Amino acid sequence: MRLILMGPPGAGKGTQASHVADHFGIPAISTGDIFRANVSEGTQLGVKAKEYMDAGEYVPDEVTNLMVRNRIDEDDAKPGFLLDGYPRTLAQVEELDGMIKFTGHELDAVVVLTVDPEELVQRLLQRAETDGRSDDTEDVVRRRQEVYSEQTEPLIEVYRERGLLREVDGMGEVDDVTERIFAALADVRES
Ligand code: AMP
Repeated sequence: MRLILMGPPGAGKGTQASHVADHFGIPAISTGDIFRANVSEGTQLGVKAKEYMDAGEYVPDEVTNLMVRNRIDEDDAKPGFLLDGYPRTLAQVEELDGMIKFTGHELDAVVVLTVDPEELVQRLLQRAETDGRSDDTEDVVRRRQEVYSEQTEPLIEVYRERGLLREVDGMGEVDDVTERIFAALADVRES
């Protein structure tokens, strides 16, 4: 099973990604989490990524693509994976197509979580208080929404045209959203 979970910052992707991945017995691969782990370990990749993350901008495609390529090459990702936060640009879509094709598989579905924009900002500001993420300040939160609209929203149409898109209401209780995702994926056949 090869899945993508999309949605604007604050839509609850991370939480849902781990529930859904557990359910299907595949790893949840979050580019944001991998970047954050590198930042805290002070690796070269982390140093490079941090300046973009703190400004609410995307880390350059070459850096991100290589990181994902290495990650999905690991053994635990051979039976499949759920990508959380990747692809986020059209160039990343193309790159991912190549990576999956190389393994002889196909992408099975793309779930997009839809959330009311007002609710998003509230969620992110609340997360800033509880988690203390350095990219959750108000200006950066706003910039991240803009970057999402400009660079990532166009991907929704790309996947819709391919017949892979599953739009899921991301509002409400976490468990209800998880159930909606499962329902939206009920007819997905693994390729
Ligand atoms: P996230 O935790 O998914 O919101 O990601 C946090 C930050 O990591 C983003 O604001 C970007 O700076 C960076 N990032 C995560 N995924 C990507 C990606 N696919 N392409 C470029 N930058 C990314």
